[in-house]
Amino acid sequence: MSGRRPGVVARCRTLAACVVATAAASEAACPPADERDAIVAETAAADPRDPAPWTRRLEVARLCADLRDEAAARQGRAEATMRAGRGLEAIDDLEALAASARRLADPALEATARERLARVHVAGGRPTEARTELLAALTARATVDDPLATARIHSELARIARRTGDYVEALRHEQRALSLRRQLDPPREVSTSLLGLAVLYEQIERFGESRRHYEEALAEAERNGSPGERSAALLGFAGFLNDFGHTEAARALALAQRALELERALGDGVATGSVELQVGRALGALGDDAGAMAAFARAEAIADRAGARALAAHVAYRRGERHLAAGRLDSALADIEAARRLYEAQDNHHRLAKVHGTLERLHTARGDALAAALSGREHFRLRNALLGADASGKFGEILSNFALGEARHRTEIAERERELEALRAQRERERVRLALWLVAALLSVLLVLAWRHLGTRRLMAMLRANQRALERAHGELALRSEALWRVSITDSLTGLASRAHGLDRLRAMLGDHAETGRSPAVLVVDLDHFKQINDRHGHLVGDEALRLAAAAIGAGLASGDFAARLGGEEFLVVLADVGRGDLAFQAELLRRRIEQVELRSDTAVVHLSASIGACWVRDLPDPTVTGVLRVADAALYEAKHAGRNRVVVHGARPATDGARSGRTDGS
Ligand code: GH3
Ligand code: MG
Ligand code: MG
Repeated sequence: MSGRRPGVVARCRTLAACVVATAAASEAACPPADERDAIVAETAAADPRDPAPWTRRLEVARLCADLRDEAAARQGRAEATMRAGRGLEAIDDLEALAASARRLADPALEATARERLARVHVAGGRPTEARTELLAALTARATVDDPLATARIHSELARIARRTGDYVEALRHEQRALSLRRQLDPPREVSTSLLGLAVLYEQIERFGESRRHYEEALAEAERNGSPGERSAALLGFAGFLNDFGHTEAARALALAQRALELERALGDGVATGSVELQVGRALGALGDDAGAMAAFARAEAIADRAGARALAAHVAYRRGERHLAAGRLDSALADIEAARRLYEAQDNHHRLAKVHGTLERLHTARGDALAAALSGREHFRLRNALLGADASGKFGEILSNFALGEARHRTEIAERERELEALRAQRERERVRLALWLVAALLSVLLVLAWRHLGTRRLMAMLRANQRALERAHGELALRSEALWRVSITDSLTGLASRAHGLDRLRAMLGDHAETGRSPAVLVVDLDHFKQINDRHGHLVGDEALRLAAAAIGAGLASGDFAARLGGEEFLVVLADVGRGDLAFQAELLRRRIEQVELRSDTAVVHLSASIGACWVRDLPDPTVTGVLRVADAALYEAKHAGRNRVVVHGARPATDGARSGRTDGS
């Protein structure tokens, strides 16, 4: 734009002037869309307290005959102006906005505009105008379903009515607000309405009810309220308690200090000022005059900065009271008079009544009886107008209706709580039942497990017993088979190895002598003329002779040697390791041991002799059992032929020394 009209822009000073100048220069032409977008963006990015960009947008919206944007620009400019603390300047915009909203058939927007107007009027101390706007807002809201916004309007109307002393109207509005707020799901801002009622009860001097409502409002705000609602409840209650002076000052101070913390976090200037005011009152009542004055100064600064005339009046009044209490009568008079003027301008009858009461006491203290009497008369006149028989008659009826409503509400709540309690109890019973079921199920499982465990244990014990029996049987079997084996390998008469076992051992020895490096020798021993022994002395003597011969054979054996009964009166002797030269000698020793055997029969002494055929295994070409026995038998045959009772070693020179014929000595 500036590119197209450098002359105009160069001359203008402010943005608004530029817009007007530009608009004039363009002969009321609507700028293209991209330029309009840029203007809208400018308002969005602007300082929220700067109305200028909104002015530019408003002009353009008008040029473009864009009613919607015109309304938006008016609203934006009004809000920026209000934020800048110049509420009066916003009035034109807000009124125009309300008119536009009506044309646009937008009741919500109209209501918003009227609510803002009311706020400007309240801040400016014009309650009548504020009330008119709020009632219009209420009418607009009636076609829009927004109960919370409607409740807020009722509360605001109640506040204005309280200030002007119209308690009946105040009560009606606050009741309506409370019921709207309670009907929301979940209820909202209930503490705000309870607080409004508390203030109302306080103003009509029903202090017990008032205290109950303050307590209830605070509890409700603590439970469900926003930080702002909590702070408001704390502030209201602190103000109430401060009216009781020293008695309740400590509690009032504590509440006010909590509210102060909340307000500091919220950053709300005017409310912080109201809290500071209560801090000052409490400190004063507690005897901290300097602290009180400092708090009042902070509150006054905030009121001035924000242009909050109601707060300014309160500060002046409370500081006047403090001066009066401290005996600073001139300062007290100045402050209280200032407060009186401000309250008068604001039509605050309730406060004015109180101010006149204070003035009466102040004038009395100053010794000005006439002024005191005038103030006293004014105090009673105002108080009578507010709380006199006529007024109390009117709100007495409403109060009792209200009390009835409240009682009904409490009953409903109690009913609902009872239902909830019953529901909770039922749920608890179900939980207990479920828990019992679970316990029973668990116990059954445990029982089954225990039973199975016992069964398993019994089974295990049985298995263990069986196993032990088996082991015992196995042991016995092993012992028995060992015994059987022993029997099978032993000759029952002589105790020597049986023929089969003897031949097995011989086979084994023949198999491994090459590896062990030993030189075994095999001897076949045959008792001489044994038949004759049997024949002469009987078989029993024969048996005994066989036993003794076997014992004589066994007695001379070295470790590794063994002997077996081959059958009848014939024995096998195997020497494990013997030199070729030593074999004949060893065989001869054996022969002699047999020769030394003697046994007694009934009639005679019997002597034995044996013939022995021997061979040295290493000499043999066929060192098998059969081969070896054949060779040894041949040697034995030779010994028998040579006359018996002698040794013949295979392959050796015939032994003549010591070779004797077997003989028997007998009778
Ligand atoms: P030789 O000097 O030639 O060997 O004559 P011999 O009588 O000893 O030999 P023979 O083979 O003729 O007789 C062996 C006898 O041994 C016959 C048998 O009655 C006897 N005999 C065999 N076994 C037993 C036994 O277990 N007990 C007894 N008492 N005699 C037996
Ligand atoms: Mg024989
Ligand atoms: Mg014989």
